[in-house]
Amino acid sequence: MSVRIVKTNPILIGLTGGIGSGKTTASNYFQSLGIPVIDSDLIVKRLWKENQEMVSKIEKTFGFSIQTDIDRKKLAKIIFSDPKQREILNHIVHPYVFLEVEKEKTFYTDRQLIVIDMPLLIEVGYHQKVDYVLVVYVSMDTQKSRLIQRDHLTEIEAEKRVQAQMSLEEKKTFADVVLNNETTICDLHDQIDSFLRGLKDEK
Ligand code: ATP
Repeated sequence: MSVRIVKTNPILIGLTGGIGSGKTTASNYFQSLGIPVIDSDLIVKRLWKENQEMVSKIEKTFGFSIQTDIDRKKLAKIIFSDPKQREILNHIVHPYVFLEVEKEKTFYTDRQLIVIDMPLLIEVGYHQKVDYVLVVYVSMDTQKSRLIQRDHLTEIEAEKRVQAQMSLEEKKTFADVVLNNETTICDLHDQIDSFLRGLKDEK
């Protein structure tokens, strides 16, 4: 396990993975242990509702109003089928997400650990701001079959969603710790316990 030279206080754990790989399952477990989790997906949802400045920037960039569900579906279709457009959107949204993460971090200054659950941790460069990068990993076949089961997708739809992201093989190369979620949830929990024990032993 490689450890960053400068450790922040509290220790920041960046939790990431691919679509359907088990990030929420892992983050729920951290929460159940009383460890605070900052959920970047929740932040994004909140920003869409509350941050008119961000929404206006997106509207200006993409050239249409994004107020209704239909508008959002239109935007989703564009960014889903065109990686460049997705990057443009991410460039607008992520500075706002970072600000919110910083704000939320201040709620937990008295805690030893904070988990930051961020699906695009690596893509947006936030992996450089945490002490440990945890990647929840599964094989592509498992990822697809869990997606099919959870979201009632066809094999082709699941394949498309998986292919639209940075591969888990690549994400793994950025990981300090790979949480292999190929088998049972219990096994995933055991790996998290062992990571946390390792942190205690380092002290
Ligand atoms: P997304 O990126 O789409 O939000 P995620 O990475 O948060 O997904 P989860 O929602 O945690 O992934 O898991 C995806 C699905 O797989 C869920 O239905 C979850 O219950 C199931 N799952 C997670 N881990 C396991 C496991 N070890 N064994 C069986 N099912 C699992």
